[in-house]
Amino acid sequence: MINQKEKVIIIGSGAAGLSAAIYAARANLEPLVIEGIQPGGQLTITTDVENYPGYADVVQGPWMMEQMRLQAKKVGARIISDIVTSVEFNKNKKIINLDSNKVFESQTVIVATGAQAKWLGLKSESDFNGKGVSACATCDGFFYKNKEVAVIGGGNTAVEEALYLSNICSKVTLIHRRNELRAEKILQKRLFERNNISIIWNNIVSEIKGNESGVNSIQLTSVDSDRTEIVNVEGVFVAIGHSPSTQAFEGVLDMDNEGYIIAQNPGTTFTNVDGVFAAGDCVDKIYRQAVTAAGMGCMAALDAEKWLQNY
Ligand code: NDP
Repeated sequence: MINQKEKVIIIGSGAAGLSAAIYAARANLEPLVIEGIQPGGQLTITTDVENYPGYADVVQGPWMMEQMRLQAKKVGARIISDIVTSVEFNKNKKIINLDSNKVFESQTVIVATGAQAKWLGLKSESDFNGKGVSACATCDGFFYKNKEVAVIGGGNTAVEEALYLSNICSKVTLIHRRNELRAEKILQKRLFERNNISIIWNNIVSEIKGNESGVNSIQLTSVDSDRTEIVNVEGVFVAIGHSPSTQAFEGVLDMDNEGYIIAQNPGTTFTNVDGVFAAGDCVDKIYRQAVTAAGMGCMAALDAEKWLQNY
């Protein structure tokens, strides 16, 4: 039984979802946002934001998302708290099953469910999150100007983060659990050429240490023996991958082998299902910025609006 019928349902309430909501509401589409498990998305777990255009002074991530939410509501979006458990999509009918056992039907759907950074899983890592531990060098690197930092991981993200940080920080130590990197060779070449980057191979971070002012060191444990060592750093950038939050759409929307939704035509937000659009970090594994997610949310609302004109 269908509990509610809508024109536009937006799944997710991060920068992509709320930007889509603002545009769809202003186009009189009366969107309904299902805000999901982490209202406001990844920005609600960051602190200072100083790269989102429009604010000359630093703003706080949670505050910025609250403003985005208020803006979406002010222009007419409705926001409910629920979790999408499964969907049944086809060209003519889009059914959304919710954790509350409600079932919604919508003419169009915008998927903006975002992604989650993967974490090491240490207690000290979550204790120092935002106080020396970060998963985004572009967001937080500037706070470690002329300081020593560590980057954890061996993929493209880790190497790109290390290169980015090496332009800001006095020293970057890349810590990888194996003796070879997964990152592309061209990135590796740049990494090895950088004077202020050193690499510690075959080690994992077993503890992050610090005090009330933040992180001051990390303890490494060798993967070959129980040997431990302490490296003094003020910032720890965990770059061991991201996972898109797309489980509810498996088998329905086309995804790559990592679970990112595939946009059908580059430069649009169309998915393989007519009338279903996707925006933000659930589609984008390259840029992953609040401003790019917001831009894609806007695009999805415009694509949905145009699609509805022929509905
Ligand atoms: P990847 O999955 O490629 O790499 C993750 C890295 O983290 C691996 O080196 C892995 O080690 C390591 N790792 C995973 N879990 C742990 C753990 N628990 N402890 C320690 N180390 C761990 O993720 P990325 O985010 O780097 O990249 C994701 C995708 O995005 C890739 O397809 C990548 O190519 C793409 N990308 C592309 C970019 C570009 O084109 N410019 C930029 C950034 C990403 P191990 O190697 O041993 O498995």
